[in-house]
Parts: sequence; C-alpha cells; structure tokens
Amino acid sequence: MNIIKLISLLMTIPLIRGHFGYRKSDQHKWTQKFKSCGGKLQSPVSISSLKSIPLPLPALEMIGYHDYLPGTLHLKNNGHSVAMSLHNDARSKRLPYIFGATLPDNEEYQVDHLHFHWGAKNSRGSEHTLDGVRYPMEMHIVHRNKAYSNLSDALNHENGLVVLGIFFQLQEENNKLLHPILNDLKEVQWMNNETRLSIPITLASLLPRNTDVFYVYKGSLTTPPCNEVVTWMIFSTPVPISLKQLNWFRSLHNKDEKMLVDNYRKLQDLRMRKVYVRRLNSYSVRNYNGTIFNVTNLTWFWQ
Ligand SMILES: [Zn+2]
Repeated sequence: MNIIKLISLLMTIPLIRGHFGYRKSDQHKWTQKFKSCGGKLQSPVSISSLKSIPLPLPALEMIGYHDYLPGTLHLKNNGHSVAMSLHNDARSKRLPYIFGATLPDNEEYQVDHLHFHWGAKNSRGSEHTLDGVRYPMEMHIVHRNKAYSNLSDALNHENGLVVLGIFFQLQEENNKLLHPILNDLKEVQWMNNETRLSIPITLASLLPRNTDVFYVYKGSLTTPPCNEVVTWMIFSTPVPISLKQLNWFRSLHNKDEKMLVDNYRKLQDLRMRKVYVRRLNSYSVRNYNGTIFNVTNLTWFWQ
C-alpha cells in the first residue's frame, strides 16, 4: 500500500471508527465515548409538515447527477450499514456536486458517498420521520463542502457537510433503478466485505421523482462521532422499493454475524431549532412576496 492510498484510507475512517450498536441500551452509551452525541443539534429528528416553516427557496441544483458516476464504485458492508463510495481513481474526475437552496452563494458540496438505514419490519427503518411516519428505509447521500480537502477536515467545520435524506416506500413492483446496487448486495453479506459495483449508476436514478419539495434543518451525523456539521435536506417524496428488494438489505450481517437490521438512531430533540420546507405553492409565495428575500444573508435563519 503506498502512502497516498494509506492516507486516503485513514481519511475515510472517522465515519466508521469505533464500535457502536443500535440497541436502545447501546445508543445510550454513544455519549460516553463520543461527546458530540449528547449535543444540542443532533439528528435525526421528527419532521412535521405543518410545523415546518414554508419558504420559497431557490431550487437545490444538482450537477452531474444524471451522469454515470466516474471511476470504480465500491460497495462495502461496514457492520453498521452498506455504503457506496467512489474509489480513488475517481477523485481526480469531476464529481457530482450540489449548490443552491439555503446554501450560501459561494458554497458547493461534492458527493462523498451514500449509505442506507433500514428496519427488520416494514413499519420502521428510516431515521427521520415525516408526519409521524417511519418509512422502511432511508438513504443518505453525503456531500462534503469543497472548501475542505477531505471528509476528516469537513467534520471539523459547522458548514462541513450537506446530507440529502431520501425515504423509501414499499410498492408491489420492483424498482428497476435500484438494480445496480441490489445486484451486488449479495457480495457484501458479511462485515468488511467489499466489492466493485458491476453496473454503472447515476445518482439521479436514486432520487425521488419530485425533488422540488424538501425539508431543511441543521443537525449532525446520525452515527458516532455525531459531529454537528450537517445541513440536512430531506425530500418529502419517497422512492419506491419492493418488499423483495428491501429483503436484500435485511439479509446482510453485522459484526456479530447477526442480521444487520434496525440500524437507525432514535429521534433526537429538535430543541430550539426550526425546520424549513421549500414550498412553491401560491399561498406561501404570496406570503413572502412582500419581503426582501435573500437566503444568502439569513442571519436569523437557523436561530
Ligand atoms: Zn446515515
């Protein structure tokens, strides 16, 4: 292993370092090892569409989302989840990135990896809840602020990450767009199994049909070390998945060689935080037409 490979490997460790469990008794212990997990801006939270503050935000611009992800894609069972990440050979390429919405004008966030949280039963699995509904699965597409050279660096800054949260909802038919990931899930049955994705994939294929409406709030990583550096954007429209497809995720195993399921964190207190929702319907736009609306200078925004 050359030094560059070693450094880049070390850089990916913070998100997965240390052992932690998802049982209630285990989650209580997170704060002992990881102080941030007991912070005031923790995730996930319960989202209420009625209590969220509607704003006519600019769209979230997603560049390169319709292109096949470059380089080799790796799928890995890290014992807590299954993650798809870009191999080093893609780092020199132009990777998909996002800007807009509530993000300051000069900030762009580049995709780093994506992973999933799911339940043993259909009535649970997602980390966030929307109007009291816990979906059977939630995907997180983690983006790093381009101002920071790597994930470790980004984790030290409050504007370090934007994570897109995508709910999955059961439907009768298979969702063919999930095939590239599902096709190789059987190769990562056990912890630390890793494989190359054999079918090319675009990020757009994993997004809901409607990305116009999303919820935004300031929070944290939902796994230790729980850094409070995440701007969360949660789409209101879920992506469909069949029970058969969901069961592929449920057939993975964790470090104890038990079923890797229910890998979601319990809901955290919203405290004084506000959740905003991008709404473009006539009512909310009329409401805000009379105000000078400049999202790049919302000092009050996150209060
Ligand atoms: Zn996650």
